[in-house]
Amino acid sequence: MTTSKHALSKSAFIRGWQCHKALYLYKKRYYLRDKLTPERLVKFKRGTNIGLIARDLFPEGVDASPSTPFQYAKSVAYTQSLISQNTNTIYEAAFVYNGVLAALDILAYQDGKWYGYEVKSSLAISETYLMDAALQYYVITGSGLKLDGFFIIYMNEDYVLNSEPKLNELFIQQNVTKDILKLQSFVQQEIEEQLVVIKLDKSPAIDIGTYCDYPYPCDFKGHCWKRVPQNSVFKLQWLDELQKFDLYYKGILIPDNIPYDFLTDPVQIRKLKAHKENIVLTNKAALKDFLGKRNQQLCFLRVWYHKPALPLFDGLKPYEQLPFFISSGILGEKDIKMEINHYLLEPDINPLIQFRQILSDVAAKCNCIVTFNDKEVRLIYDELASSSPEINPVSFIDLENILSLNYYYDPIFFGQSDILDIAAHFNNELAKEKVLSDAEAILEYNEAVANLPEAASFMNKIKKSSDQYLISIRSFYNFLHDILETD
Ligand code: SF4
Repeated sequence: MTTSKHALSKSAFIRGWQCHKALYLYKKRYYLRDKLTPERLVKFKRGTNIGLIARDLFPEGVDASPSTPFQYAKSVAYTQSLISQNTNTIYEAAFVYNGVLAALDILAYQDGKWYGYEVKSSLAISETYLMDAALQYYVITGSGLKLDGFFIIYMNEDYVLNSEPKLNELFIQQNVTKDILKLQSFVQQEIEEQLVVIKLDKSPAIDIGTYCDYPYPCDFKGHCWKRVPQNSVFKLQWLDELQKFDLYYKGILIPDNIPYDFLTDPVQIRKLKAHKENIVLTNKAALKDFLGKRNQQLCFLRVWYHKPALPLFDGLKPYEQLPFFISSGILGEKDIKMEINHYLLEPDINPLIQFRQILSDVAAKCNCIVTFNDKEVRLIYDELASSSPEINPVSFIDLENILSLNYYYDPIFFGQSDILDIAAHFNNELAKEKVLSDAEAILEYNEAVANLPEAASFMNKIKKSSDQYLISIRSFYNFLHDILETD
């Protein structure tokens, strides 16, 4: 069937492959969808940019994308006319077959043959990308175009920028034709099932499961997970996913109801006991050893990172973790107030060079740097110390290790390691402040870099957020020392 009307798009198909109920809700109860999270938005924007850059591997193509998502029929017709003229490169080539629409990133005509290329902004090919490619192959060939090969273009994790970007090295073009041919009968069967699902009068009876987060966090969780209480077994950091669902399917929703014989791991059993008896577990000897003396000259550090897909400075790789904003809170030996400094890194200078300079300045003013869940600071400092022996020697304390090494476990936190939640428990003032999450800060930073009038608002928000983080890290540090000083 080659009509240009379609009932499923590629993204709807992938959604349905994840869960038929998610497809049904998307088609029939769209209003139940959760708000797009900042984390998803960061990924989405990154994917769009990489797709456009990869077009330069096949320059001077004709863009067949529709002016609005509702005009895909025009796009399909335009693609057909471009194909009939043997156009060398078509971007966003659109096809419809058997009720499914697929828009391919790049369709290339080389030596009398047609090849399909789909661009992914990732560093590897996943099962989902193969399924996505298999659907496109099914639709394109089903609509009547013979493809002599299908490639997934993804990013080369070993690529290191050296002066001019080289797209042929930055991107890997992998021929996946054999893999996706094996999936064709599955795709056909799945499409038929999905076309039935979207005609149902009511939502399919599907309970929540591990598929709610695989391959993507489903955006109907707000609806389907309503009956799961906030402090449920799913919040427990120390249970694995299968254990959590095993409990859920047995009707056990809260930690207090977990039977001891459900667990075999002694650490998990101790933590369960802490929940049932409402006690805090503390390994004071290990804590003391880890924290050292209290009266050190301290610097609390909060570094905001992003992972740009494209390396912009020599020596950097795709998705390398790079700082864009740093805040330090220096505490002299007897000082009560922190001396807080904020550093917005210059976007046109290698951030690692700036990071090393700031770290060197900070190290000159303290003898111990305290962070929460930040391994990068220590790595950068160690690199710096090996090449600059004159740098002030400092020790490092990452307070998150205290939680992951089980030196301290308070059941109230369920094993989660959010420093703001932890500190808000000791300091009521902190709980009132709304701070930027990492993903929100990345989105606002990108806006500020692209649009200078946004910079003042971004600076204001990130400074306030950093202050909260620094106060939180300090509160937790003091709280842990207080534990050691009380019997
Ligand atoms: S939340 Fe889970 S059960 Fe509900 S639609 Fe999404 S994947 Fe399906």
